Amino acid sequence: MPVLVMKFGGTSVATLDRIRRAAKRVGVEVAKGYDVIVIVSAMSGETNKLVGYVGETSPLYDAREYDAVVSSGENVTAGLMALTLQEMDVPARSWQGWQVPVQTTSAHSAARIEDIPTDNINVKFAEGMRVAVVAGFQGVSPEGRITTLGRGGSDTTAVAFAAAFDAERCDIYTDVDGVYTTDPRIADKARKLDRIAFEEMLELASLGAKVLQTRSVELAMRYNVKLRVLSSFEEQSDAAGTLVCSEEEIMESNVVSGIAYSRDEAKMTLISVADRPGIAAAIFGPLSEAGVNVDMIVQNISEEGRTDMTFSCPTDQVLRAEKALAAAKERGDINYHDLVADTNVAKVSAVGIGMRSQSGVAAKMFKTLSDDGVNIKVIATSEIKISVLIDRKYMELAVQALHDAFELDKTA
Ligand code: ADP
Ligand code: ASP
Ligand code: MG
Repeated sequence: MPVLVMKFGGTSVATLDRIRRAAKRVGVEVAKGYDVIVIVSAMSGETNKLVGYVGETSPLYDAREYDAVVSSGENVTAGLMALTLQEMDVPARSWQGWQVPVQTTSAHSAARIEDIPTDNINVKFAEGMRVAVVAGFQGVSPEGRITTLGRGGSDTTAVAFAAAFDAERCDIYTDVDGVYTTDPRIADKARKLDRIAFEEMLELASLGAKVLQTRSVELAMRYNVKLRVLSSFEEQSDAAGTLVCSEEEIMESNVVSGIAYSRDEAKMTLISVADRPGIAAAIFGPLSEAGVNVDMIVQNISEEGRTDMTFSCPTDQVLRAEKALAAAKERGDINYHDLVADTNVAKVSAVGIGMRSQSGVAAKMFKTLSDDGVNIKVIATSEIKISVLIDRKYMELAVQALHDAFELDKTA
């Protein structure tokens, strides 16, 4: 029988009533003749609560125990979803990651899925089970320890199962009815897209649009998974949502397809470092070894052989970055007068494959921000995106102004 993957996010399984509604949708697909793999998140708020418990118990926690605790929210919803389906006379059972097993790397709290053997679940499908409910976000390392895939990781579980089982489609049910031109929670004029190219979705996700985890889009692109984002709240079960697909399947699109933002950015500046060959390697080598995800980098104009070096990284990695740089200074590998951290910044980005062939997008973005009195601190560009770092207090204003300037409320 054809296989369908249906993933329900935290708000879609937030209460027993919501789980029942989600289960009804699953029942509709089973009645159509599909064998269904349901991937569930923890009830909304649960994972944050568990992360909080870990931090309170042990500030410099053992990441293996973090995963043991934080993965547990999904176990509850997987069992409840299976029970709900059984109550509806749909043959179903739950699976925790290790039971499948979802084999991952040992990078605790940010593990990658390496393999999903299909035998265990297929045996049950062959015996008449119609729904395998799998706890999202979790797996098992080669050492036999429980791992998690990073926040939002259930999306990745879903796409990985769709690829492993050669599913007809991977439907991501969430609390919005698709992918929008920007977060509909901060811009009223945000417009739902019927289709978005993998590459654009990948950029939007990695630049902060949390509607899909970045890794899930990467996997969908690599294995050509038919990926759809839709609402679990709408009554109509065949609402189309947004299809994430290859560029060739998109007829028309604006030059800019979407605006993303990320609130949790920090800007770090090393004041007065020696401007000599190898200095960038001496700074960014230790940062990378310390696991700091450096994003934007700017080297300022140098005077008398000294320069300022600015980079951005996630706010929660500032301490780690400071420690790594202090250690490099201590060793004599680098020398700087001061290290200034600005944790009141946000990143706003415009994304669109149309930028490849159209010039003037950056100029328009900068002019729009300057008309609103928003000062740009750092700029980074790639072929299909332009990102700026600005004061966090202007973030929503900047998103809305750029959405207007690029007329994203209108179709191409
Ligand atoms: P789930 O719990 O279902 O995984 P998430 O909260 O992780 O849901 O993701 C859905 C949220 O993503 C939406 O509620 C919305 O606020 C946010 N979001 C950010 N950018 C976008 C976008 N471009 N389109 C749609 N939603 C977006
Ligand atoms: N429950 C996990 C989280 O909140 C995984 C997910 O929902 O995708 O990050
Ligand atoms: Mg999510």
